[in-house]
Amino acid sequence: MYQNHEERGGRAAGANSEGAKTMSRFNVRKVAVLGAGVMGAQIAAHLVNVKVPVVLFDLPAREGPKNGIVTKAVEGLKKLKPSPLGVADDAALIGQANYEEHLEQLRDCDLVIEAIAERMDWKLDLYKKIAPFVAPHAIVASNTSGLSITKLSEALPEEIKPRFCGIHFFNPPRYMYLVELIATPTTNAHILDDLETFVTTALGKGVVRAKDTPNFIANRVGIAGMLGTMHEVEKFGLTYDVVDDLTGKKLGRASSGTFRTADVVGLDTMAHVVKTLQDNLDEKSDPFYPSFGTPAVLKTLLEMGNLGQKAKAGFYKKVGRDVLRFDLESKEYVPSGEKADEVYGRMLKKPAGERLKLLRESEGAQGQFLWAILRNGFHYAAVHLATIAETARDVDLALRWGFGMKQGPFELWQEAGWLQVASWIKEDIAAGKTLSKAPLPDWVFSGAVAEAGGVHTPQGSFNPTTKKFEPRRVLPVYSRQLFPESLLGEAAQDPATAGRTVHEDDAIRLWTLDEEVLIATIKTKMRAIGMEVCEGLQQAVELAEKDYQGVVIWSGDEPFSVGADLQAMLTGMVGVGIGMVDEAEHFMQQTMLRLRYANVPVIAAIRGMALGGGCEVAVHSAKRVAAMESYIGLVEVGVGLVPGAGGLTYIARRAAENQAKSTHKDLLPFLIDGFTSAAMAKVGTSAIESRQIGYLLDGDTIVPNKDELLFVALDEAKAMFAAGYRPPHKRTFAVAGRSGKATIQGQLVNMRDGGFISQHDFHIASLIANVVTGGDVDAGTQVTEEYLMALERKAFGELLMNAKTQERIMGMLATGKPVRN
Ligand code: NAD
Repeated sequence: MYQNHEERGGRAAGANSEGAKTMSRFNVRKVAVLGAGVMGAQIAAHLVNVKVPVVLFDLPAREGPKNGIVTKAVEGLKKLKPSPLGVADDAALIGQANYEEHLEQLRDCDLVIEAIAERMDWKLDLYKKIAPFVAPHAIVASNTSGLSITKLSEALPEEIKPRFCGIHFFNPPRYMYLVELIATPTTNAHILDDLETFVTTALGKGVVRAKDTPNFIANRVGIAGMLGTMHEVEKFGLTYDVVDDLTGKKLGRASSGTFRTADVVGLDTMAHVVKTLQDNLDEKSDPFYPSFGTPAVLKTLLEMGNLGQKAKAGFYKKVGRDVLRFDLESKEYVPSGEKADEVYGRMLKKPAGERLKLLRESEGAQGQFLWAILRNGFHYAAVHLATIAETARDVDLALRWGFGMKQGPFELWQEAGWLQVASWIKEDIAAGKTLSKAPLPDWVFSGAVAEAGGVHTPQGSFNPTTKKFEPRRVLPVYSRQLFPESLLGEAAQDPATAGRTVHEDDAIRLWTLDEEVLIATIKTKMRAIGMEVCEGLQQAVELAEKDYQGVVIWSGDEPFSVGADLQAMLTGMVGVGIGMVDEAEHFMQQTMLRLRYANVPVIAAIRGMALGGGCEVAVHSAKRVAAMESYIGLVEVGVGLVPGAGGLTYIARRAAENQAKSTHKDLLPFLIDGFTSAAMAKVGTSAIESRQIGYLLDGDTIVPNKDELLFVALDEAKAMFAAGYRPPHKRTFAVAGRSGKATIQGQLVNMRDGGFISQHDFHIASLIANVVTGGDVDAGTQVTEEYLMALERKAFGELLMNAKTQERIMGMLATGKPVRN
């Protein structure tokens, strides 16, 4: 269960299955989303991604077909970036409806999410209209960003009130992990539990429960923080580029920093959230209110219609290749790109306590600015904790998940030394340096928090109302998260040391949580696959065949693996010669075959990138369990190589298998897609698209919530073992031969001559064609995997000696970006 981390980390999947069995059976057959605007349409798209049937409503169009507004919104989804859909064509799965003709359809919906324009009167009108059609058990939830959920509920008939609450998604809803749930005084407790369970497992989100206060938790603290930052920027006279450099990755925040983030969000949206703060709060309810004035620059940009990225101008504007920044005084865009002083970059790398001390004592404007914004954040969060959230945990998680911060304000404060930082804030308040004179609450200085040295402890996180450290909510759904994201001070189990280690070296850790399944965790940088990793994987199979039910290849975070260790390969080639590379390739290929033909099931538990060698590990596993956000592909062409650890062999084999299952005589059509994916280094932009490309199979499992991946993978391994798992037969299969190769080559010539691909691309693609068709043999010739793997090695070795390929590899190693040559 989800009570405390020590218990959770130590518990094995067997125990967790029990929890999962007692999970609520809130059976969501269909969801209605009301409002096909920015949020409603994208929420509908995400529901499609996770296989929840959805019908999207909007007002009837005044002209043309009545569903016109919804239809347009659904079409828009296909073009939106980043894509709200796992696969663009799935937009067709969104049911379309309007309030004039289709209210009856609401009766089939178990959940109704309202996401219409942010106007209390409009929302209330709509609730009255839909109420007679809402199913007697259905949950109704509003996605409002700032309106009072309790006030909204008052317009509802008595029988719906207990089933009404807030469900606050963040934009873009597919990618933002946070969903805030907000109860009213009349919301039934089990309704919220049911919804939390559904949102966590089925939608794959991280739930934080918020109190019903303006803008809830993340936007309240986050936007107050942004306004405070803009205030300090003016005070210290810094430019936006420098501020973004300071407040991005270096500070452990979203890489777009402050102003570029505002541009991406849209300055109108931001102004809207600011306005909610201005309209719903006052100096009494929020002592920071005087600092909530719309900053002059924001006002000016809004007046100019420069709403950020969507208007192609905001705080920044791209002109040709240059990015310019807005200058408030001249109202012109001027050259930008200035970086922060290096000294602050160095300070930000220091341990938290030292870091904050150095910043606070620094003489330069940039350092003082950084201390000021961090201090304002601590000050604001502490003053408001009791009103907006139940515990400090909810504030920190909301800011991590809703604002892309690595640490929430309380975590950083605690890490830096609770009482020391508290006294600094107190001094600053007394000196008139803070945004508000409001004192820090008493609990900061005395009692449980002061004694524990912070708000997060192994017993739980501080609740300023009960004055206790409260454990996490106990819901069976959380037993599916074996290693959920933890906060500093919680003393959670680290997946890097949890369970019992069976073998560990620098490249890999083989361990078990339940003594039933062996977990293989790759430890190299970006989980690159070199010889040691291959040895480790082979050893995993060896051990599992003796003592375990299966192997799960899993890591606590992203990526799954970015592929072969290029650096090691290049060094080996220079030092030992090409023979070494051939040997290494051979060993990798043997590893893949060992995974494929293991006598126990090997499960690849994928999250994030599984590229090149990572993809090859995945496709040679018995099964793949992939988080929704998995990006899988054979990308070797990008570094001038061909997939050389069985990737092309897999493509050829899969084509033959697919053909064998069909009535078609010709193999080539089955091969073309796979060939093209490898030749164009195509990567699936989601697990769903990765399946379309063929790197995941229909029988593989896609898991919406990244934190449930290990739980599902362990269960799959055990289920396969229990079903009497045997590896596939080792068979020969037919290849398309020289005639197939000639056909592909003909198309490649056209592409090269038409200027679509370079000569080197042509050369690599020809080599790929040679491997996947089996080379110089007759069409239909039966081959073995080993035969094709030998062709892979030959092509790989040849390319590695090629100057253009070497240029690509060096470029990638130096800049992380592909070189086009
Ligand atoms: P939007 O303006 O893009 O879309 C609103 C939709 O409501 C439109 O499709 C419109 O046709 C419909 N609508 C307008 N008047 C209506 C009426 N009287 N009756 C029924 N439908 C009507 O808005 P949005 O940005 O998608 O926001 C929708 C809700 O989600 C708001 O409550 C907003 O606060 C909240 N929200 C927005 C964001 C965001 O970043 N945009 C994030 C989280 C929550």
